[in-house]
Amino acid sequence: MTLLSARNLSKNFGGLTAVKDVDFDLPEGEIRAIIGPNGAGKSTLVGLISGRIKPTTGTISFQDRDITRLPAHRRVAQGIAYTFQITSVFANLTCRENILLPAQRGALAAAGPFGRIDTDALNDKAEEILARVGLGDRADTKATEMAYGHQRLLEVGMGLALDAKLLILDEPTQGLSDSEIANFLDLIRGVARDTTVLLIEHNMTVVMELAQRITVMNFGEILAEGTPEEIRADDAVQRAYLGG
Ligand code: ADP
Ligand code: MG
Repeated sequence: MTLLSARNLSKNFGGLTAVKDVDFDLPEGEIRAIIGPNGAGKSTLVGLISGRIKPTTGTISFQDRDITRLPAHRRVAQGIAYTFQITSVFANLTCRENILLPAQRGALAAAGPFGRIDTDALNDKAEEILARVGLGDRADTKATEMAYGHQRLLEVGMGLALDAKLLILDEPTQGLSDSEIANFLDLIRGVARDTTVLLIEHNMTVVMELAQRITVMNFGEILAEGTPEEIRADDAVQRAYLGG
């Protein structure tokens, strides 16, 4: 099933076309990587998908519903979670609190205006997510006291706490050490068992190990799309990007 589908998507910033007439389909359950040189339009494309950026032309549907005009927070409620290039955790909150915030948001929406939130269930959920992202023993540690790599894991946890159906990550491994990257690969493989993952990634080892399919962008357009093997063997990609 197609989870997300974009048609004729464009974004102009003044005279500059950052995304140009893009058609993009994302099947449910896939790990998709978007690659391409700096300025290719990758962040703009995921900004359009998350709703942070409004399109100049085109439509986006998610689970067969037209979301083109939904603001970002309404897309979050539909299950589209986005973490930014710059770490977005609340520095002075503990890991548990950082997870409880988005988890509470989902519980509130589910309970309705007069419903009650089961705080025990909420706390259990937070513990479970912290364990899942490998931060089980850091529940009471403030985010600011943790290494950068751990903050990125917490960020993924915040996406999970939203019960995201689509988790969008913009350069999640930037600034991570090799061992943190290995950790991250395991985490995303686990997450992908029940969440579709769309990530912008520069580290080609991560891309080739993680992605089921790769979308290559260049000058705001999709240059190629395929499996890691197909992309590696693509002449146009080699010339434009992989430097072969
Ligand atoms: P990438 O993520 O692939 O590096 P971006 O989507 O960030 O590329 O940027 C694509 C192009 O759009 C670049 O030329 C960039 O300078 C331009 N751009 C991105 N955001 C803005 C903005 N808010 N205002 C003006 N130009 C922008
Ligand atoms: Mg970018």
